[in-house]
Amino acid sequence: MKRNKFIQLLNPVKKGEKLRSILKLKCPRCQEGDLFVVKNPYRLKTVDDMPHYCPVCGEDFQREVGFYYGAMMISHASTTVIAVIVHGIVFYFYGWALAPNLIPITIIILGLFPVIFRTSRAIWINMFSKYDPDAIKNKIIHEKNLEKRKS
Ligand SMILES: [Zn+2]
Repeated sequence: MKRNKFIQLLNPVKKGEKLRSILKLKCPRCQEGDLFVVKNPYRLKTVDDMPHYCPVCGEDFQREVGFYYGAMMISHASTTVIAVIVHGIVFYFYGWALAPNLIPITIIILGLFPVIFRTSRAIWINMFSKYDPDAIKNKIIHEKNLEKRKS
């Protein structure tokens, strides 16, 4: 019992909840497979590298060409919220002075860009995909993978 409570503290979001998939950048269907190939978002060359299908349950991460354009709207909205918060704090000390407002906003938004980028994609795909507790048991096998097996 004590051990379970400790794990819950480390992992407050239960399996099956969308927030878990978003925060941990996991597949929305099985919540086991990683959404991104390289875990570290600050390796900028691989920031947008996603497997075509979930390696664990076979969920389609690409869906269609341009699927993640919608994630840009989420990214835009979260960037705006961050800018407003930072401005609110700076405004308290410096008012409307330009440099004290622009510099921290620019640094914070550029610094958080890889995290915002990935989280936005995770939110976007979670809007179209539901958690399925039997996802791993009912793994989707794609035609492309079948062709590979035959040859
Ligand atoms: Zn999956």
